Amino acid sequence: MKLLITNDDGVFAPGIIELASALSARGHECAVTAPDRERSSVGHSITLTRPLRLWEAPPGPYPPECTVYACDGTPSDCVVLGIEEIMPDPCLVVSGINRGPNLGDDLTYSGTVSAAMEGVILGRSSLALSLNCGEDDGEHHYETASSVAASMVDFLEANPLKPGVLLNINVPNVPLSLLRGVRVTRKGVRLYEGKVTRFTDPGGRVYYWVAGRPEDQLEEGSDVWAAANGYVSITPVHMDMTHFPSIEELTADGAEKINFK
Ligand code: MN
Repeated sequence: MKLLITNDDGVFAPGIIELASALSARGHECAVTAPDRERSSVGHSITLTRPLRLWEAPPGPYPPECTVYACDGTPSDCVVLGIEEIMPDPCLVVSGINRGPNLGDDLTYSGTVSAAMEGVILGRSSLALSLNCGEDDGEHHYETASSVAASMVDFLEANPLKPGVLLNINVPNVPLSLLRGVRVTRKGVRLYEGKVTRFTDPGGRVYYWVAGRPEDQLEEGSDVWAAANGYVSITPVHMDMTHFPSIEELTADGAEKINFK
């Protein structure tokens, strides 16, 4: 299959190299178009206010049969340019393997997932893959996630996704033999405790870090629950964010009859 591969950790991050290498080794035609630097948590932003550059990257650690381009834009820019300029007819857009999970409300912040969203918007089936590793984990089992990716590509060839749907896949950071299995999940709830930290710089001016410790609501069937229990989590994500029950409710409550003063 023809696969357009991108990420938000940068074109030479270990996750995307492992992903492209594993998919290429299984006979897929892989074109990588990825940011030239880390673009984690840029969400779905695209670049409209400056020119974009796209250049063939030295293959370096990639297998020689992979086409590799770097771009100075965002992950979504990479998907747009990848389809326009590098691989016009990919069967799938594959984004990842992200260093760290994309669970619950990470979805809208994630450049990894947003790249898959861009693929869906452009009419392509898309996958986002993330390795559920922590900052302090000594080992990163990207090879587990790339095996999951390869199996999912085969699965989707036989079982195509509906238009407008992408799969957000989170893989436990363990050797393949220790995976507990797979759960098809819904988006869970992940809140960040202590999101804003306030500091003072040596000049006496206040500055902030927006970060925080994730607090998951571990309801069975959610992505955060599956991840906490050692499963591969596969969440089908629909690009239509409309909350349909509220259409009726708002209409019944008279929202269309509000008199604007
Ligand atoms: Mn990232």
